[in-house]
Amino acid sequence: MTEPTPLDLPEGHPFGPHNLPYGVFTPHADPDARRRVGVRIGDHVLDAGAAALVLGSPYGVLLAQPTLNPLLAAGRDTWRDVRRALTAWVARPEVVPHLHPLDAVTLHLPFEVADYVDFYASEHHATNVGRIFRPDGDALTPNWKHLPIGYHGRSGTVVVSGTDVVRPSGQRKAPADAAPVFGPSVKLDIEAEVGFVVGTPSALGTPVPLGDFRDHVFGLTLLNDWSARDIQAWEYVPLGPFLGKSFATSVSPWITPLDALDAARVAPPARDRALLPYLDDTDPAAVEPGGYDLRITVTLNGHTVAEPPFAGMYWTAAQQLAHLTVNGASLRTGDLFGSGTVSGPDRAQRGSLLELTWNGTEPLELPDGKRTFLEDGDVVTLTAWAPGPDGVRVGLGEVTGRIVPAPS
Ligand code: CA
Repeated sequence: MTEPTPLDLPEGHPFGPHNLPYGVFTPHADPDARRRVGVRIGDHVLDAGAAALVLGSPYGVLLAQPTLNPLLAAGRDTWRDVRRALTAWVARPEVVPHLHPLDAVTLHLPFEVADYVDFYASEHHATNVGRIFRPDGDALTPNWKHLPIGYHGRSGTVVVSGTDVVRPSGQRKAPADAAPVFGPSVKLDIEAEVGFVVGTPSALGTPVPLGDFRDHVFGLTLLNDWSARDIQAWEYVPLGPFLGKSFATSVSPWITPLDALDAARVAPPARDRALLPYLDDTDPAAVEPGGYDLRITVTLNGHTVAEPPFAGMYWTAAQQLAHLTVNGASLRTGDLFGSGTVSGPDRAQRGSLLELTWNGTEPLELPDGKRTFLEDGDVVTLTAWAPGPDGVRVGLGEVTGRIVPAPS
């Protein structure tokens, strides 16, 4: 009888061989080592390039790179081939020497972020925010059900999970105040989102139709769009979010390939009006189901504060990509687009403190005290899982961050 190895996982492990998310790591034991692609299996990271070399795979060079970008750029056929190979490798004893315990590695931002776009695709979130910010108007703007609203964000401040978030300073002005004041944000918030990572680029001037979504998007990751509500509320009219969101956006170190999430695909909710043809996903013969059944949990200092359901998002990632490119804007490898805050119909499903506390008027009661917005030292963590094959769960890599004080 042979000794068990880290590859001998308990049945149904959410990071079993059906999952295999990608990241980039360096081992603690070798701090000068170059960054290389890792694949998570159980509570270990497989050095994918080293495994490829030992098994004589042609993908050794692609997987020994310091970022995922070359793999992302290689296209869907290669993504499938590499995933098929990895699925076989994690049953091979030859790769065991190339496994590193998760707590013995540093996980890095896994890809070079090209452009970053953030959407606003939950009807429940948009309705709540509309009621809070515009109590005298319609909750949804007239365009909301006709197009996926978004804005271009700041790719250079996308950071990997575990990076501290410095409380931003800026201008704020309450409606009753005579003039704006400057200082550290007093309404620092989270937004629980899902980020989609583009692999295959597109040509300038050529839209990407709904049906081509899977040819371009490699995978997804949990994303926290940190938001300073006081800065945002004063600055956002008429051009939308700016400094209230550009100071930091955290992503998980693990990118889950869409190929691991086929069992999680669902039809989006029924829409109550017809969409223009480039966004119309109602013909299942022409378009794959665009929704994903991802169950997110938001914890604040270890206490669960919300469980937002991604399956109920009004706009799908495929529609967002089609809209993002319908004017001919091109895609680049490493483009990242966020879903927008994920909120469900129930209070316990709201993906931001803005909604959970109704702009601070209904504090959360946590075991360690009341909370409206984030305080210095607070730690926020997003986790999630999705239904996988044969009733097994697909775990998504967590994204966490701690708030540190604004510089004095
Ligand atoms: Ca957002």
